[in-house]
Amino acid sequence: MSSAPVPPQRRSRVRLLAVPVASLLREPGSRRRVTTSAAVEDLAVSGSRVRDGAEVAVDVLLESVHDGVLVSGTVTATWQGACRRCLEPAQGELVVEVRELCVEAGDEETTYPLDGDELDLEPIVHDACILALPLAPLCEEGCLGLCPECGVNRNLEQCSCEPPPDPRWGSLSLTGGGTPQVRPARGATRPDEAAGETAD
Ligand SMILES: [Zn+2]
Ligand SMILES: [Zn+2]
Repeated sequence: MSSAPVPPQRRSRVRLLAVPVASLLREPGSRRRVTTSAAVEDLAVSGSRVRDGAEVAVDVLLESVHDGVLVSGTVTATWQGACRRCLEPAQGELVVEVRELCVEAGDEETTYPLDGDELDLEPIVHDACILALPLAPLCEEGCLGLCPECGVNRNLEQCSCEPPPDPRWGSLSLTGGGTPQVRPARGATRPDEAAGETAD
């Protein structure tokens, strides 16, 4: 009986966020706070990313529970991206709460792996950042974006383009000169059709 071997590509990586947990596991109920930071690879979504080499700060409490180690605390990182409205660089801070259970040979959907006496925090940190990275970042909440007519950055200069018509008035102006459309009411079925073929 041996546990499943760790895939070689994971072993070969430098495990900067691996924490020894042998003493913790020997004493159920014991806790240890871990405060560390490291660069984590591949933290990117379509709208933003954590710059390669930028450190992610981890401040978590490890708690020895009967079937593994409970990891809870915060992960903090700086993200960068392009503002979705004005396309200028945007950045901000991710502060993500984590609370995950790490077990030896557990359900991979709901838990993280515990590799013998070592707990690698990187998968938890990676997933937490990926879920929190903004898909549509803004340079600031009130960014005015680009003018849809002439393309100037409206945070930096004003243009004299007409504002686009308010969509709320669109339906009124259409009914002004157009032909009113009369559609038959839905469900207007004749009683004999609705009765179906139940006669016997
Ligand atoms: Zn912007
Ligand atoms: Zn304009």
